[in-house]
Formats: sequence, structure tokens, C-alpha cells
Amino acid sequence: MEIVAVPVLSDNYAWLVHDDASGATVAIDPGEAQPLIDAAAARGWTITAIWNTHWHADHVGGNAALKAATGARITGPEAERAKIADMDDGVGEGAMLFVGDHQAQVWAVPGHTAGHVAFHFADDGVIFTGDTLFAMGCGRLFEGAAAEMFCNMARYADLPADTRVYCGHEYTLSNARYAAQAEPDNAAILERLAAVQAMRERGEATVPTTIGAERATNPFLRAETVGELARHRSAKDAF
Ligand code: FE
Ligand code: ZN
Repeated sequence: MEIVAVPVLSDNYAWLVHDDASGATVAIDPGEAQPLIDAAAARGWTITAIWNTHWHADHVGGNAALKAATGARITGPEAERAKIADMDDGVGEGAMLFVGDHQAQVWAVPGHTAGHVAFHFADDGVIFTGDTLFAMGCGRLFEGAAAEMFCNMARYADLPADTRVYCGHEYTLSNARYAAQAEPDNAAILERLAAVQAMRERGEATVPTTIGAERATNPFLRAETVGELARHRSAKDAF
């Protein structure tokens, strides 16, 4: 299974997930269509499906044009069907999706939006977290409570340390600066802040990350209580 980051809009990542054996190529969270069409064409791939983690425009804005160009079906959270135009297949907790033979389990991870889902490829050690878990951060609580995001973070934290985390935005530098202030004695955070600064200066993407790295450096995933996560969330909102 090959995964390609496609930068869209100002700081979003859409993803192409490709299985060579079957030729299946899934576009995850296409905030725009053309960059995904170009990225697929450059590799000789044809987009066969579109998956959305949540209804926000920066994740679904390319759905219609991509569907028109490829005929791909759109899969998204059933709970957000009314907010995602042209959605074909609605999914929720426990649903199984496939990229060729590669199986993804759908996780319901509410909080950023009420119906937000993640896609977990357990056998591949990969999870697409949309706007819930970010590198060194977590999504804002637009349609949910800190308790929900706390449950999501606990669930992510239980994944194997080498699980690769593909999130929806390049927010790592801002998250790292907040983390360094929130946990000034955490050497792993200070080290990662320096590394992330250098990567961004070189114009490099800082994602994917891993669950192991997040356990060591993400204050939201490291929060031991709902209250602690809630305090981090309000502080980061104002940071
Ligand atoms: Fe969002
Ligand atoms: Zn977003």
C-alpha cells in the first residue's frame, strides 16, 4: 500500500492511498480536486474512491469535481450525510472499507465534528485521523466536548507505537511551540520542536507522525484527565 501526501488549500493534506495489485486508489479528504487528479495522473493511477473524515469544506471541497472527473463513489460519516453533498455511502464505528485487499476499520471519533471518523488499517499499521489527532496536537472542539476528544486520544494512544498517523493539516510547528510551553521540562518536545523548525525551513512535510512520537510529545494525547485535555485545548485556542 502506497500513501502519497497531496498538499491542498493553505495547510491541508489530502492523501492518495494506492494498492498496486488491484489498481485501487482512494482519495482521502480532497479539499480540492485538481491537485489529486494531477498527483494520481503523475503516477499512472486512477482514483477509484473518495473517503471523507468529516464534513468541513477543506476536507470535502473537491468531492464533486473529483467524482465528476473519475466516477468515484464518495464514502463519509453517515452522521454527517446531510452536510456532505453527493455522499454515496455512509459509514460509522466498526464499518470495514477496502483499498484492494487492504482493510480499514472505521472509528467514530467525535469532538471536532459530531460525526468525525478515522480510518484504521490495522494490518498496515496506518491510521488516517483527519482533524482529531494532529502531530503534537488535536483538533478544535467545534461540535463536541473535551470528554469525547479525551476518549479519542486514549484510543489512539493504545495503538502500537510504530503506527503511522496521517492527519489533515500541517499544524505541527504551531503545535510544537505550544507543547514546549505546556511541558517546558519535556526534552523530547524541545528536541522535536527543533527538528520540526528545521523541516519547515526546508519546506518539508512533518507528517506522517507515529503513535510512539505522539505519546512522547503530544500534550493532548498525554493528558491524564479530561480536565487536563480541556485546559490544553482552551490554552491552545488562545495561543
Ligand atoms: Fe476540520
Ligand atoms: Zn480541516
